[in-house]
Amino acid sequence: MAAREVESIFTELLDRVRASDPANARVWFQELIPLQLDGGALGIGCPDATKQQFLTEHCQGTFTRVAQQITGHLITVEFSVVSNSSVDGTLAQGFGPRLHPDYTFDNFVVGPSNRLAQASCMAVSQSLGNTYNPLFLYGNSGLGKTHLLQAVCAQARELRPNLMIELLSCEDFINRFIRALEAGNLAGFQSQFRTVDVLIIDDIQFFREHEHSQEEFFHTFNALYNNGKQIILSADRPPAEMQSVEERLVSRFNWGLVTGIDPPGYETRVAIVQKKAHLRGLEITDEVAEYVARHVQANIRELEGALTTIYALATTDHVEVNLAVAKKALQGQIKLAVRHISISDIIEAVTTHFDVRLADLQSKKRSQSITEPRQICMYLARQLTKHSLEEIGGHLGGRDHTTVMHACSKIGDSKTSDEKMHAVLNELTKQILQASA
Ligand code: ADP
Ligand code: MG
Repeated sequence: MAAREVESIFTELLDRVRASDPANARVWFQELIPLQLDGGALGIGCPDATKQQFLTEHCQGTFTRVAQQITGHLITVEFSVVSNSSVDGTLAQGFGPRLHPDYTFDNFVVGPSNRLAQASCMAVSQSLGNTYNPLFLYGNSGLGKTHLLQAVCAQARELRPNLMIELLSCEDFINRFIRALEAGNLAGFQSQFRTVDVLIIDDIQFFREHEHSQEEFFHTFNALYNNGKQIILSADRPPAEMQSVEERLVSRFNWGLVTGIDPPGYETRVAIVQKKAHLRGLEITDEVAEYVARHVQANIRELEGALTTIYALATTDHVEVNLAVAKKALQGQIKLAVRHISISDIIEAVTTHFDVRLADLQSKKRSQSITEPRQICMYLARQLTKHSLEEIGGHLGGRDHTTVMHACSKIGDSKTSDEKMHAVLNELTKQILQASA
């Protein structure tokens, strides 16, 4: 096909992709270039591996569907990296950790709640191993820990492309350790992790007590630390509150810098909403940004979710985004419609979420892993149904009304004091409402 024709198909493609999936559209789509259209495949060139991966993971479906609509043919879309000569070859191939293109320092809004954390991460990324080692970042879910860890990685990689960086979640570390053990290749695992220049582990609250993986991490930590290699960790709570982590590790975390992120205040939330809209190439008025920031306070992931909902509604209704659309979109999210919800709906959602069995909830078991889901069932049943305390107790193994009352006040308290519980309850409520809609 003639190059000019491909060019014009491509321009239309980008416009329509933006319109049909605003949540995943990005301003940098303008850097994409059409490569060729032959053999039923449209090749699209992107500037680096991070962006290529984002497109493949989040946008392939939309690009393909729209390309088929425009051409009227069953074509496929392929994203590949076209590096200009200034880009390091290994980088273009996606060497090292896979990063999200949004998670950079440029895209991180700094405010009083995260200023210290951001500054420490920035400092570390510019002077690895010398400034703060280890760097320990903590904060509730959705406040930007993963974003900052990835930003450090992206920045460090840009400054020194040949650095060996490992960035992974604690769960991945544990799984890779277990796989190495099973394969009889512990030595391979150890040489992989003990020889990196930078080790970044996200969400280390998932280390369990008395498990070999934690022991292994301890030795990895020591080996790296003694060689002046940078270690960066994140968790949902400060070191001193991590019950499942051994004391000797906790004390090591405190050798470096421990810094927390708090929930952002109103002004920061407004700035974040605006930043997220701009990243997607969306216009947003101050009025709408302020409305979203005022109504969505829990965490930033929810702020983004609200933005997505608003633009989705505007697209389906073929209207501009304005305050009325924002109100309509968020109303649907917040409102607890009066529907018929049964205790079984609640039990079903809770047992699935916590991966426990109904029989356990009804049993006499008193371990935390059972009592908490049980109490959450009671609390949600009280909130979402009209059943009496006795009836609720009856469904959960014949417990009396004082037990149910105690559970309701306990979970209600932690909902206000514990961000995580707040998020879990919101998520469950949403699921239950959807399931019974
Ligand atoms: P955590 O790892 O702490 O649970 P994430 O890093 O995954 O949180 O952040 C959740 C979302 O919020 C991400 O999309 C991230 O980009 C965004 N986010 C968090 N803090 C900020 C900030 N200060 N500026 C811009 N985006 C932010
Ligand atoms: Mg995270």
